Amino acid sequence: MKFAFFDTKPYDKPSFDRYGAEKGITFKYFETKLNEDTVGLARGYDGVCVFVNDTVNAEVIDRLCEMNVKVVALRCAGFNNVDMKHAFGRIHVLRVPAYSPYAVAEHAMAMLLTSIRRIHKAYIRTKDFNFSLSGMTGFDLHGKTVGVIGTGRIGRVFIDICRGFGMKVLAYDKFPAEGLENGDTIRYVSLEELFANSDIVSLHCPLTEETYHIIDEASLAQCKKGVVLLNTSRGALVDAEALLAGIKSRQVGAACLDVYEEESEFFFEDFSGHIVEDDVLARLISMPNVIVTSHQAFLTEEALSNIAETTVQNIADLFERQQCPNELCYRRGNAEDCKDGRCF
Ligand code: NAD
Repeated sequence: MKFAFFDTKPYDKPSFDRYGAEKGITFKYFETKLNEDTVGLARGYDGVCVFVNDTVNAEVIDRLCEMNVKVVALRCAGFNNVDMKHAFGRIHVLRVPAYSPYAVAEHAMAMLLTSIRRIHKAYIRTKDFNFSLSGMTGFDLHGKTVGVIGTGRIGRVFIDICRGFGMKVLAYDKFPAEGLENGDTIRYVSLEELFANSDIVSLHCPLTEETYHIIDEASLAQCKKGVVLLNTSRGALVDAEALLAGIKSRQVGAACLDVYEEESEFFFEDFSGHIVEDDVLARLISMPNVIVTSHQAFLTEEALSNIAETTVQNIADLFERQQCPNELCYRRGNAEDCKDGRCF
């Protein structure tokens, strides 16, 4: 099998070459992202392997089908960049549902600690032999309340980490997890209650029509003054302009963003020599209480290895057994079974 691999970074290749060789799958690595302009590169391949900022919309899917490309193998968990309704009945869509929830949850906590203990400031200060402590006062996490939106794999690991710090947890999920509440320090509540009572709000739900801008002007207004916002999930969960306004008004005490609404324009690339046109991103980055990382929460050795292993296994399952447990959308199936782009 031959796969066209889009948005390739140097750290992708070793694991994919290793696991691919074991299963007889070769990858042709393209640095460009998949979109309407680049889809032609997939001609002659059995499938495409794509990541979070590749575009798999209706036009791209139609062009892939015309070229007899049979599979979209996502090497990530989220699939908001795929038009699942259009894909249904046309092309196989595989994903990696979990590769290391620890990588993302630990990054969320790393960002939180960095922010509230001013590590980002201290790092720069001491590099310049400035050992002053003014402006460095943080706060204890112990005893604070964290609101966790989305209690799936990553959300639950993040809750475990927060419990290790002695924090109280208010959770919200469309489908609450059985057995998570302990009647004391971990409780499911409504979104309104979560916003009103959390010192920190952390997002761990997928991006869907329902969760788009779940953090906006109205929800920020419901939050405690000085709330710390963590987003390691998907950029468009947060209305970036409303967040900037919240930072300026001091309603938001700090924000830690691993993802950004318009990140596909910038993230994973070096723009250090360029004039960045996105004023909201530039202004957010300029704030002393905003930390931005470039969608790197997943980026651990363990996660990269698991991503490659599962992606290759998904492809092998589909071609060898004609079925794959990580298929999102059956190419030949009953459209009635496809709800919200997921097959049940
Ligand atoms: P998961 O599917 O295990 O958990 C998602 C949870 O969100 C589920 O419990 C689900 O019921 C809940 N949910 C669905 N709709 C909801 C809604 N409307 N309101 C509240 N909760 C809702 O997924 P996961 O592995 O925990 O990953 C969570 C998200 O993290 C992914 O969707 C992805 O967007 C993001 N992610 C980011 C990175 C990164 O590098 N920054 C890496 C992996 C995943």
